[in-house]
Amino acid sequence: MDGTLLDKYYDDYFWERFLPEVYGARNGLDFDRARRHLFDHYRSVKRTLMWTDLDYWSETLGLDIISLKKEVSHLITPLPHVPEFLTFLKNQHKSVYLVTAAHRKSLQIKMDRVDLRHFFDRLICADELGRPKEDQGFWRELQDLIGFDCERTLFADDNLEVLNAARGHGIRHLVHMARPSSKEPRNQSDGFPSIATFSELM
Ligand SMILES: [Mg+2]
Repeated sequence: MDGTLLDKYYDDYFWERFLPEVYGARNGLDFDRARRHLFDHYRSVKRTLMWTDLDYWSETLGLDIISLKKEVSHLITPLPHVPEFLTFLKNQHKSVYLVTAAHRKSLQIKMDRVDLRHFFDRLICADELGRPKEDQGFWRELQDLIGFDCERTLFADDNLEVLNAARGHGIRHLVHMARPSSKEPRNQSDGFPSIATFSELM
């Protein structure tokens, strides 16, 4: 979802600017110290379900992360051409699934702001399967759950580790989203076909 359908700038801004400011003010730390402290913490749980678990962050940081996320929710926007592409898939009668690392509470905040739910057959959060998308086992569980045909499935993501796990499972058509944030330049991937926006697939 983030960086593929929605502008990742919202998440980058929240975790890298807004939260360090709030956390610093609460704990008497200047911005740089608060940021260093939080970044060390982020690194220690990357590639686990804790990383995306808003309850985990609320408990460990002693802050109401859900309310804080809502405070800057005006920054939640779809990436260019996303509604058009989802409409295009619907018109082709494709089965369409949103498969996200986002915690269900993050998903709720985002879909309350930019409702894409009606485009999907089903929305699946990684915590529902108990594993992160970087884990090949996630894809086995997902296949059991929704029964996709690897040979006829297209999967798009901005995260190369996730794409590699999907490739390891045997998903045939993989697309790397090369412009996950509107505030960052396009990045390239050697291993996967890259697109900047979904207009390239229509
Ligand atoms: Mg992403």
